[in-house]
This record gives sequence, C-alpha cells and structure tokens, in this order.
Amino acid sequence: MTPLPRKQVAIIVAHPDDETLWAGGTILSHPSWECFIVCLCRGSDLERAPRFKQTLVLLHAEGIMGDLDDGPEQTPIPDFDLQYAILQLLPTTHFDLVITHHPAGEYTRHLRHEETSRAVIELWLAGKITATTLWLLPKNTNWLPKN
Ligand SMILES: [Zn+2]
Repeated sequence: MTPLPRKQVAIIVAHPDDETLWAGGTILSHPSWECFIVCLCRGSDLERAPRFKQTLVLLHAEGIMGDLDDGPEQTPIPDFDLQYAILQLLPTTHFDLVITHHPAGEYTRHLRHEETSRAVIELWLAGKITATTLWLLPKNTNWLPKN
C-alpha cells in the first residue's frame, strides 16, 4: 500500500517567532504535514535570522526569510510590494493549507501582521496562491491583560 501523500502546508508570517507563537503547537501536533514557513521581515537581522533557521529545524519545516522594512516607524508597505515579496518567497505549488495572520492582527496590534494577512487573502482570492484551505490565526483578545 502506498502511503498517503503528505499534506502541503504554508505558514506565512511577518516576523520570526510569529510562526512559533501562533502556529508552533499546530505544526508540531501534525507531524505528517510538510510545512514551508515564509517569514517576510528580518532576513538580514544577525540575531533573529539564525534563530529562525534553528526554529525551522525544531519544527521539522522548510522555510525562507524576506527582508521587508520592519523599522520602528512601521511605514506602511504598499500592497503590491508585499504581494510581490510573498510570491517571490513562496514556492509555486499547490498547498493543501495556508496559515497566516488575522486581518486585525493578533493579541497585540501590529501593522505588519495586518498587511501580511490582507496580502495573503488577496493573493489567495486572485488564485495567485493556490490552496484548498486558508486559515487565519485567531484574534484572541482573551489574552489581553484585564487592566
Ligand atoms: Zn510579528
């Protein structure tokens, strides 16, 4: 009997660590998934880029980093530039599942998360990312401190 083909999963996040914070448990609890993680920022960050590579090993995933602006000003990135960067980094293949940020970000508001979410959704709706299913990370306000 031939084994079932492994589920092809892409995780598209703005920053290193986002994949671990919001999808690490999900990735590790699905060892049959073949995961590819796209991290859009910090590719030239001498501290965070090597840690991202180590994380890929721990998550048994493949992945790649981009180097989009992530400065303290958080200047908005034009939709076209973000979509172009995603398409450059993401392998051209059909994914069973794509996971990305929530359009309103997660428990802390972060412009890059919101922009990434919007870009992935638009690419998916336009058929430029082909995936059977798109999951958006939960906007979990329960994690906010109560004060
Ligand atoms: Zn982030």
